[in-house]
Amino acid sequence: MTAAIDRAAVDAWWATTGVPTLEEFVRIEAVSPSFDPGWQERGGLDAIVDAVAAWLGSRDDAPTITVSRIEGRTPLLLAQTPGSTTDAPNVLFYGHLDKQPEGTGWTVTTPWEPVVRDGRLYGRGSADDAYAPLAAWGAIEAARATGAPMPSCTILLEASEESSSVDLPAHLDALAEQIGTPDVVICLDAFSPDDRRVWSTSSLRGIVVMDVTVQVLTQAAHSGDAGSVVPSPFRVMRQLFDRLEDASTGRVLLDGLYTTPPATLPGIVEGMVGAGLHSPMEDFPLVDGIVPEHAALVDQFVHRAWDPAIAYAGMDGFPSTASAASVILPTISTRLSVRIPPDLDPAVAAAVLSDALTADAPSGAAVTVDLIAAQGGFSAPLLAPGLEAALHAASQAHFGETAGFFAAGVTIPFMGMLGDRFPGTQVLTLGALGPGSNPHSADESLDLRAAAALTAAVAQVLVTGL
Ligand SMILES: [Zn+2]
Repeated sequence: MTAAIDRAAVDAWWATTGVPTLEEFVRIEAVSPSFDPGWQERGGLDAIVDAVAAWLGSRDDAPTITVSRIEGRTPLLLAQTPGSTTDAPNVLFYGHLDKQPEGTGWTVTTPWEPVVRDGRLYGRGSADDAYAPLAAWGAIEAARATGAPMPSCTILLEASEESSSVDLPAHLDALAEQIGTPDVVICLDAFSPDDRRVWSTSSLRGIVVMDVTVQVLTQAAHSGDAGSVVPSPFRVMRQLFDRLEDASTGRVLLDGLYTTPPATLPGIVEGMVGAGLHSPMEDFPLVDGIVPEHAALVDQFVHRAWDPAIAYAGMDGFPSTASAASVILPTISTRLSVRIPPDLDPAVAAAVLSDALTADAPSGAAVTVDLIAAQGGFSAPLLAPGLEAALHAASQAHFGETAGFFAAGVTIPFMGMLGDRFPGTQVLTLGALGPGSNPHSADESLDLRAAAALTAAVAQVLVTGL
């Protein structure tokens, strides 16, 4: 089937409807709950859910709106529109309305005052992820305008994504019947490593966060008196770290934290390299002379996609150097943030880590582990040939190149939950977080051309891919 999406109409829709509506959403200080304990009193999350509901409700042939509210949790919005026939496929769109806190260092505008400059809309939440309801509904309107048969569509917009989607499972449980079983999920919250094609994320790593505490004394001891006699808690901690990873290479040593990558991974990585993606090293503010953990680009992409990786993200128990006395410290703690393979059960990973850290404590130290969070990754099932072909054609038509598949290193908690709840569902993990969009940072912005192209491409998939 050929594309019948009127691209000029989609571009015009973004200029006249998308931009002013997104500006309204950017102005709402909808900071995610983990950054704002007073979110309920401040009301930003309720305000943005109400604003999006009002906008969707104002459209022609408006969807049926459900706002799910559960005591003590952030709200969730469902917008549903029936398919052309009762057996039409079910499409579930995902996005989130909560935002990162404002942060510092903004130069183009202030976080809550949207500005359009050089084709980009600046402001907190513009790209992550307040454009999602616009791209989803814009695609539905563009698809409807073709006159083709429509799938049944549900747009799910949650408000706790930036807080690890803590409130999402409760809403999914409460709304299970209403959501049903989607045939295709279109996530509109992913990175796009370049703006030359539609990228669909094929896998995401999971994450385990835990604190490990080592105690050797009940209070600090003079290091001249106790040194050479009392074991240092830092040395004990180093021994524990040495159980987790090879200090000279960074390779994680625990076999239980590895899985065998799927047979499709080499092809996906080949596609990433073939598309001209640069080394991830170029994305980070490295100091001179830093050597990558893997030299070849292919290896960087493969290991980032499927290897465990440990970050030592915080430490307690140490005074600052300026106020440090010559003592052996009594108790120290380290926050471990461990990325895990996409298909590894996070509870299993947490147990593997905890067992390694607490077995047979060095020097008889008291070692305790507190699990902070454990979230699964995601490995997309193979796309049905028809859907994959439609995605390539839509990308070719609206970006100029066929679609790409991206094996990511990051975690999107929703995608892990989705894989667990709907194991056979087809998934397109798309997004407008392209180069220069600076999510979570200063000068966050949405590339309006890319947003319109993505909207048109999704519309085309709706009418040709299902
Ligand atoms: Zn996001």
